[in-house]
Amino acid sequence: VFEKVPGAPEDVIFALTSAHKADPFPNKVNLGVGAYRTEEGKPWVLPVVKKAARIMVNDDSLDHEYLPILGQDAFRKAATQLILGADSKALKEGRVGSAQCISGTGAVFTGAQFLARHYPIKGATCYISKPTWANHRAIFEGVGFTVFEYPYWDAKTKGLDLKGMLIIMEMAPAGSIFLLHPCAHNPTGVDPTPDQWRQIADVMAAKNHFAFFDCAYQGFASGDLDKDAFSVRYFVERGFELFVAQSFSKNFGLYSERAGNLTIVAKTPKIKDQIESQIAKAQRAVISNPPAYGSRIVSLVLSDKDLYQEWNQNLKSMANRIIEMRRLLFNELTRLKTPGSWNHIVDQIGMFSFTGLSAPQVKVLKEKYHVYLTDNGRISMAGLNTKNVQYFAQAVDDVVRN
Ligand code: PMP
Repeated sequence: VFEKVPGAPEDVIFALTSAHKADPFPNKVNLGVGAYRTEEGKPWVLPVVKKAARIMVNDDSLDHEYLPILGQDAFRKAATQLILGADSKALKEGRVGSAQCISGTGAVFTGAQFLARHYPIKGATCYISKPTWANHRAIFEGVGFTVFEYPYWDAKTKGLDLKGMLIIMEMAPAGSIFLLHPCAHNPTGVDPTPDQWRQIADVMAAKNHFAFFDCAYQGFASGDLDKDAFSVRYFVERGFELFVAQSFSKNFGLYSERAGNLTIVAKTPKIKDQIESQIAKAQRAVISNPPAYGSRIVSLVLSDKDLYQEWNQNLKSMANRIIEMRRLLFNELTRLKTPGSWNHIVDQIGMFSFTGLSAPQVKVLKEKYHVYLTDNGRISMAGLNTKNVQYFAQAVDDVVRN
């Protein structure tokens, strides 16, 4: 029956990981996947996560019963507080809802599916940044939206194209949906400054656009949870109704456990209840109810003062190692006098750096140097360490010169 089904291309990032794995070259480097690696190039189970897991194993009150459809209450409460701030006015006014989802991806999907069914402006379009995480387009198109791009990366300045972004926001039909990265933009590592966020909020408010934040890197970007939440909190203060998809994959290292949350800031408590009830109805038909293990770890850590502090330390050590790798790479390229300006390597934030390398240069890096990265020149800083950063810089120097 399925002879006519065309084969689909493999996911680019997962394909890079497979190619790297199969490569016997001893000095190969994987800068593709967005997962934290230690100085030894290994995945890291956060010590605080290990501690929480041990507490859970010894807790006889825990069982494997189904969670409620919208997930674990303690997790939802902790997640919304983490992103909005415990003293958020919207929280106190009882108009913040939430749904535990299948990590950040599931939270983006759940929010997008709700918008596709219930957004009051028929035919509203969704705008995503150019470039963005590839799943944004796939998810929004998957639920039926027409997806457009707004300018974001300025190849000339290797920074934010604020002007281009604001022009498109002004030109977009009123009430369009804008997908925004609150911090550590993937793939560019370029974030608006607080003042630029104010300008973005001005235009979005004037045009009645809907803000959908996708927050995959809170605390992981700068090591400071509040700083990384600035944009979301600022929009809430300004009175926006909005969604925030939250992922705990990176900041807890819980990639495979799929711990995520959709935070919903509504106009009134009653509207919040209406939205939550529709999301519960939709979630029942997709996953029935979310998984418990990862969300229990997150809620345990977020609700215990000592564990929370330890988590902050773990977060800082990840953020700082990445910042250190940016510095080392920049220093190496400067030492080699590699043509071009490389300041963006240290100016960008979070796990990724958009190097500005072209697709043909990336091809040479792969074929000649066994360095694996996406064709758009994005590198995961976490894949670098003191043992391979010189090798990588040398390879970049060669492809830039030739
Ligand atoms: N949004 C962005 C921008 C991301 O970079 C990621 C992770 N690559 C996610 C969402 C979701 O990741 P996950 O589903 O693992 O939480």
